[in-house]
Amino acid sequence: ALEIRSLTKSFAGRPVLTGFDLDVRAGEFVAVLGANGSGKSTALRCVVGLETPDAGEIHTDGRPAMVFQRIHLVGRRTALDNVCAGALGRLPLHRSASPLLFPRELREEAMRCLDRVGLADRAGERAARLSGGQQQRVAIARALCQRPRVLLADEPVSALDPSAADQVITLLADLANEGLAVAAVLHQPQLARSADRIVGLLGGRVAVDGPPEIVSGSDVDALYLPERAAA
Ligand code: ATP
Ligand code: MG
Repeated sequence: ALEIRSLTKSFAGRPVLTGFDLDVRAGEFVAVLGANGSGKSTALRCVVGLETPDAGEIHTDGRPAMVFQRIHLVGRRTALDNVCAGALGRLPLHRSASPLLFPRELREEAMRCLDRVGLADRAGERAARLSGGQQQRVAIARALCQRPRVLLADEPVSALDPSAADQVITLLADLANEGLAVAAVLHQPQLARSADRIVGLLGGRVAVDGPPEIVSGSDVDALYLPERAAA
């Protein structure tokens, strides 16, 4: 459902991606690991068009949806409004806009998405009053409301406490089990234990690709060695 081939990208002559390849099948949850500055965000941003690659090919099944470490909900609006607005592609919401302005089918779909992330009972709560983990799940509901086949997540749990992080990662794994192709950048290898596959970036390309058991192995450790990450 997601195919990236030979992606290259430089910033100001400095190569960041030097031939990055990634395949994520429908139903698969791939964790992307790598040291700070290794190009993880750049790779995902190229997929959703937030960066333009210098060369390479990207194919996705439909339009991919993405969630970020910084969640960017409209705090004064309800969880439901945020999900509706995201699906409409209209952000930010005007404070005075009534939720009733959203078409009923959209509100129903948004409710289903909130239900899917376990937050149907908080639909009418202002986003700012939700915990960080709940906010990230609202952001995932907002992404789901766009009916993507490919879901990308850039450090979705970096700002969350361990139990909220577990919930979000379990949700991503469940969504993959239901048929979504999920690629998530995770800032700590141990978070990748419930992924189907781990891909590690080093020197702008994939240096590690294997089952989740490799998180505790030396190949993954080597991704984070300063001298190699800087090379
Ligand atoms: P982190 O773990 O810190 O999030 P990352 O693996 O996501 O790192 P990227 O954000 O992809 O890394 O950045 C890779 C390199 O590209 C870094 O050196 C960064 O400074 C540089 N870079 C990223 N975006 C830009 C930009 N828009 N302009 C200039 N340089 C950039
Ligand atoms: Mg990043």
